[in-house]
Amino acid sequence: ATVANQIAAGEVVERPASVLKELLENSLDAGAQHLRIHLEEGGLSLLAVEDDGIGIPAEELPLALERHATSKLRCAEDLQRIASFGFRGEALPAIASVARLRIQSRPAEAGAAVQIEVEGGRVLSSQVCPRAPGTTVEVRDLFFNVPARRKFLRSPTTELGRMQKVLRQTALAHFAVGFELIQGSRILAHYAPAASEAAQDARVGEILGTDFLANSLRFAEEDGELRIRGWLGLPTYNRPRADEQHFFVNGRPVRDSALSHALRAAYADVLYQDRHPVAVLYLSMPPHWVDVNVHPAKTELRFADSRRIHDFLRHAIRSVIAHEAK
Ligand code: ADP
Ligand code: MG
Repeated sequence: ATVANQIAAGEVVERPASVLKELLENSLDAGAQHLRIHLEEGGLSLLAVEDDGIGIPAEELPLALERHATSKLRCAEDLQRIASFGFRGEALPAIASVARLRIQSRPAEAGAAVQIEVEGGRVLSSQVCPRAPGTTVEVRDLFFNVPARRKFLRSPTTELGRMQKVLRQTALAHFAVGFELIQGSRILAHYAPAASEAAQDARVGEILGTDFLANSLRFAEEDGELRIRGWLGLPTYNRPRADEQHFFVNGRPVRDSALSHALRAAYADVLYQDRHPVAVLYLSMPPHWVDVNVHPAKTELRFADSRRIHDFLRHAIRSVIAHEAK
């Protein structure tokens, strides 16, 4: 089982940033409202995510570390959800097989938390401990037992940068949730839960810069079941950085060449020149219009009708920009 998990780890867990992504997703799936990330050495020696979600019942804790033992497949109705969100029950066992893992968890109705320690996939200890309801997953010494993979990790600074990117993307996808990123004793990021429009603007300003916020347009358009909303950099505010384009489809961060093209083309339509617009865009559509299970990392997707999405996006953005460029 350990070998199978290590192979799975190759797909799911590439580096600290991919571990972080999985842990954040688990916390969000568990309904957490506040997430705190602790790092040491860019996550190479410690990467921990603490949440206030529903917790894991003590008897399910060892199960969570078994492959395909997802708790998210309870009924046929969930299958659609799983098909669209890509729940696979692989992340924790994969991480456990290539790191030292400690999980503390307490469901709200339980009197205490249970802590389980795993090393290279083997359970070392399990004991009761005090903790507020929620879950903490600590990942230490990533790839300590897989030197070939450890070799591919970059400096703590580079790995930290990638994790900050994951956090920014996650924070843009979940405005209602609060996030904190702490390295050693330094708070590197703190996004308070953002319910109001003003608070959402503030979070966008924190993540993309207040300069962007001051030079962007908030908009929303729809065409039947297809909706787009978000922030578009003004035609005069176009920094040449392609990674300043954030796309979300049905709440999940994605990369897609049709979406990127539609955005660029819309600006080019108005400005008659190619630019790299800065934008944060949220598309929503019926779940069956999109297949997100193309890639294990789940950031790629396939639209049933890519052309329609592209054209809708291009037209919607063009009309916002054209209006402003007048
Ligand atoms: P998946 O998320 O695909 O179900 P994982 O391996 O990521 O698989 O997690 C396995 C199981 O562990 C989850 O289905 C869930 O029951 C439990 N779990 C993991 N993290 C948390 C968390 N932060 N809060 C509550 N339950 C969790
Ligand atoms: Mg998961």
